[in-house]
Amino acid sequence: MIPVIGYTGAKLAVLGLGRSGLATARALQAAGAEPLLWDDSPESRAKAEAEGFTLTDLTRHGAFDGVAALITSPGIPHLYPHPNKIIGRALELGIPVDNDIGLFFRSYATPEWDNFETAPKVVTVTGSNGKSTTTALIHHILQVAGRPTQMAGNIGTGVLSIDPARDGEVVVLELSSYQTDLARALTPDIAVFTNLSPDHLDRHNGMGGYFAAKRRLFAEGGPDRAVVGVDEVEGQFLANQLAEGPADDRVIRVSSGTKLEGFGWSVFARKGFLAEWRRGRQVASIDLREIAGLPGAHNHQNACAAYAACRSLGLAPKLIEQALHSFAGLPHRSQLVGEREGVRFVNDSKATNVDSAAKALQAFPKIRWIAGGLGKEGGIAGLVPYLSSVEKAYLIGHSARDFALQIGETPHEICETMERAVARAAAEAQPGEVVLLAPAAASFDQYPNFEKRGEDFTALVRALIG
Ligand code: ADP
Repeated sequence: MIPVIGYTGAKLAVLGLGRSGLATARALQAAGAEPLLWDDSPESRAKAEAEGFTLTDLTRHGAFDGVAALITSPGIPHLYPHPNKIIGRALELGIPVDNDIGLFFRSYATPEWDNFETAPKVVTVTGSNGKSTTTALIHHILQVAGRPTQMAGNIGTGVLSIDPARDGEVVVLELSSYQTDLARALTPDIAVFTNLSPDHLDRHNGMGGYFAAKRRLFAEGGPDRAVVGVDEVEGQFLANQLAEGPADDRVIRVSSGTKLEGFGWSVFARKGFLAEWRRGRQVASIDLREIAGLPGAHNHQNACAAYAACRSLGLAPKLIEQALHSFAGLPHRSQLVGEREGVRFVNDSKATNVDSAAKALQAFPKIRWIAGGLGKEGGIAGLVPYLSSVEKAYLIGHSARDFALQIGETPHEICETMERAVARAAAEAQPGEVVLLAPAAASFDQYPNFEKRGEDFTALVRALIG
């Protein structure tokens, strides 16, 4: 646990008692602060009480008397579409609103670091897609390299739950736009921006707000090194703003598809090969085509971003190459579940938006596509250009009929359930084809989360292929 610095004896309100909220409460207690805990949901309150925490009703008049700050969870709207009532009250009263990420950046460095030989470093990863894969990949490469490393943030472990820093350690944090929008301290040593495509627009009041939230990671603390995906205009803009000029190697530009030769430092993938360029000449090349844990051009983008971050930490290209080969990939992201009679079954349940589904559809040549769920704002018309690889779509969930209307001439069948979709796709698939779950929709109509949806697919496939 990271004890929070600067609030000894202070009262802090904590709103949201999920994983990160409870970790925050513990870290505040450990630091001698008094956390006042609340959650709008009675179930979450009951869970917190069952763990021995005491609750304070933050909706009560006067609840903020003497409170130094309000710490909130990423799932709770703090501005758009409108602030949660308790956050709105704190804003009216001028009480600083922060989150666990802000507390982490204030508290991670301690006077003990003076005794270390190598100062610990923090690498952060943000972007619309590829955050988890890139974060896990950086962490994996560092492990293979024998560097002490911890991974946390949006990827599963609350940032305040990690162990205090060790000599030479690298902490790798995945940060969502909700987290970067609010944190009052953001001071990574290396910050990575993978890419940007529309998502969560209701929470950021549109694309401008969404981009602004992610940009804070680069603007607030000013990382020593920024790794920026430049395949969209937003990434180009960000790289442009951060660099003095094209030769400035504090910015490493990354692309999947575009040759980036005229810069101080760049890493790009083309036709399955990763290339690193510095000051006008190529310094390394890696064949990514046979790396099983990183299929498709989108994963090559993640490989480039992770490679760039690890190069800025001083790791050698050969060592990084070796580590890429042993990366198993993450569950629910282009995950190969099994193979039967030449048909591969791939679980990309995490493809919850149009962009990630488009990437999955481009990663395989002949696809039996299982899609649907709770469709997002804007629909899936944006996928039409990528459907040429789809032999047939098997549509499930709330948006099945809606999706059927949006996919044009692509053959399709309304299956309603995952069970039926897997059975039908498996029955019709020919050798050489891929049965791909890439829903382009949220899972909440039929499942508690995308993980459960992916597990359902995996269990059905395993039952089928034995
Ligand atoms: P995030 O943490 O940003 O949601 P993940 O690594 O969990 O990213 O991947 C989310 C989804 O996006 C998965 O469906 C995955 O296959 C796809 N994906 C992964 N990397 C990229 C990328 N660089 N560009 C677009 N889609 C990607």
